[in-house]
Amino acid sequence: MTFDPETTTFLIAGPVRIHPRVLRAMSMPSLNHRGDYFHGIVAEIRELLPVLFGAKGTQLILSGSGTAGLEAVYSSLVPRDRRTLVLSNGNFGERTDQIVRQYSGAVTTVTAPWGQPFDRSAVLRELEKGDVGAVCVVHNETSVGLANELAPIAPAVRKSGALFLVDGISAVAGIPIDIDGWGIDAVVAGSQKGLAAPAGLALVHLSDRAVAALHPGSFYLDLAAHKKSLEKNDTPWTPAVPLFLALREALVLLREEGLARRLERTHRLAEATRGAVDALGLTLFPERAHASDTVTAVRNPEGMGDPELRKVLEREYNVLVQGGQGALTGKIFRVGHMGIADWPDLLVTVAALERILGKAHRLPAPGAALRAVVDRMP
Ligand code: PLP
Repeated sequence: MTFDPETTTFLIAGPVRIHPRVLRAMSMPSLNHRGDYFHGIVAEIRELLPVLFGAKGTQLILSGSGTAGLEAVYSSLVPRDRRTLVLSNGNFGERTDQIVRQYSGAVTTVTAPWGQPFDRSAVLRELEKGDVGAVCVVHNETSVGLANELAPIAPAVRKSGALFLVDGISAVAGIPIDIDGWGIDAVVAGSQKGLAAPAGLALVHLSDRAVAALHPGSFYLDLAAHKKSLEKNDTPWTPAVPLFLALREALVLLREEGLARRLERTHRLAEATRGAVDALGLTLFPERAHASDTVTAVRNPEGMGDPELRKVLEREYNVLVQGGQGALTGKIFRVGHMGIADWPDLLVTVAALERILGKAHRLPAPGAALRAVVDRMP
């Protein structure tokens, strides 16, 4: 079997598989982005966005990948006169640090080794110093398959008066987030992850406090300009029209399923994947208690790197999973199970892994990993 993008089992950590309805929604002739028809589409998207975030607030649509959303938030909200605290325990935490440092001269980074949770007391100690104006954290560290817990630090962030700015790119619609309850001021989602739309849009939720704190930082990504246009169902610059059409359909699909059901399915798929990993005799990369529900990161078995595992999955079984990033290249593989990923995707992937490990005489108990999945199906 050779790789075929039309039929592949597609479980990378985003972009994710896209429903045919969403694909078809993009097949439209050019639209006048300043005309009533397109404005009507934007109005519908605005009505649907609270379904994605599970909260109401100012919600903006930016043409650009998730990083555009992050840069928009940090450039418009990181304070110039106070310290910004960045929490970093993976590749995307490091990216946050890089972006924030473009816009602030006073950054403190609390780090934990990749794949391990933060030391909460270190975060609290920084907040108690009283001069922190913003806290930036990645909710789901896609690079290491770890979900950072926001609830335990939320009250202290709120008490400190700092803005709470969250990279939710691989978390939103996959891992529960209580935006209002945890006092979160900005959340960035990427269209290509839990929402299962094509890559290329960033969705940004802002609290009233964040809206009041917006300041100019970037021209193209100025959130105040985007907010002003969106109030008239418009965008400041030419929007990625086909992606807006896809976004609307992906949001309709999410509303049909319901956010709670999507979160529940994602969680069950994650549990099944972790069960399969154990039964395959493999090890999770992050600490198990903090393992992500949208992306499972697994250590490659001893003596088997990408050529023996991931490339065989792709070449022989038409199954795509993702490799490691940075220092983890060739050391881990990552299975994404968010968006519209479902049981058939996981069954095929686990069956193929059983076969590959079995042929390499590395499978502890044939059939056990498939059993682990089947037993967790609804
Ligand atoms: N932050 C997180 C947590 C991500 O998972 C990603 C992409 O995978 C990004 C940021 C960057 O998003 P994009 O590649 O859409 O710009």
